[in-house]
Amino acid sequence: MSERPPIPEHVKQEVRKRCGFGCVLCGAPIYQYDHIREWSLGGAHEPENLTLLCASHHEEKTKKLIPIGKLRQADREPFNRSREVSPAHVLHYFGDIFEVFLGSLTFKQKLSVEGSCDLVNINGKTLLKLGLQDDNLLITLKLYDKQGTPLVSIIDNELTYNTASWDVKFIGRALTVREGKGQIRARITFDPPHRLNVQRGHFTHHGLRVEVSPDGVYAPDYNISIEGGLWIGIYGHGIVAYDAHHQGGNFDDAFLILPVDE
Ligand SMILES: [Zn+2]
Repeated sequence: MSERPPIPEHVKQEVRKRCGFGCVLCGAPIYQYDHIREWSLGGAHEPENLTLLCASHHEEKTKKLIPIGKLRQADREPFNRSREVSPAHVLHYFGDIFEVFLGSLTFKQKLSVEGSCDLVNINGKTLLKLGLQDDNLLITLKLYDKQGTPLVSIIDNELTYNTASWDVKFIGRALTVREGKGQIRARITFDPPHRLNVQRGHFTHHGLRVEVSPDGVYAPDYNISIEGGLWIGIYGHGIVAYDAHHQGGNFDDAFLILPVDE
């Protein structure tokens, strides 16, 4: 397969909007950009040649189990745009205040029109982020193993990387990432129109860990655990953790910085 340049951001924005922010066949809000006419056959990065498919429909398409005519039809009438009322699993946001639960921590803030909030940042790396386009939430989630190998990567709702042994599912309103058939490594539920609940998340980067669970937020490397709290304000960052090698960056707008300096 030939190297291909990345799809420009403005093209992705246009495709997301046209496709109703979901798989054109089933509406699922975590998706991949599919070249209707394959890149290897000369299909271009043009918005008209791109559509959104969830991981399972993308796989079916790659195995040629979806007739191209059916795909083009769905692209003309995307699932999420063909309904009069928006389906429950569209990540539609509206309201003045956005509420995020991180385990037992709560923070409320105003998301600006094209604003974003870097919810978990470890050693300078964004691991969980919320963005907004036309009142639709864009989720970024990156999970690594202890050695720093990427396991799952979702960027602005696009599943860009997923190791074969990991399972990424969006069912109902919940995004669940499992290690194989076993342990849940991340679970995020959406409660439209303005609530997001990060029930579980194992975040790590360059050896530093932050764990979110119903008990609270735990940073084992600092032996710090925060069992609850309510933050209200305007934040560009949520939880920020860094070690001596990775100091720097401006995190004045974070609601929680680890290590906590008194
Ligand atoms: Zn689908």
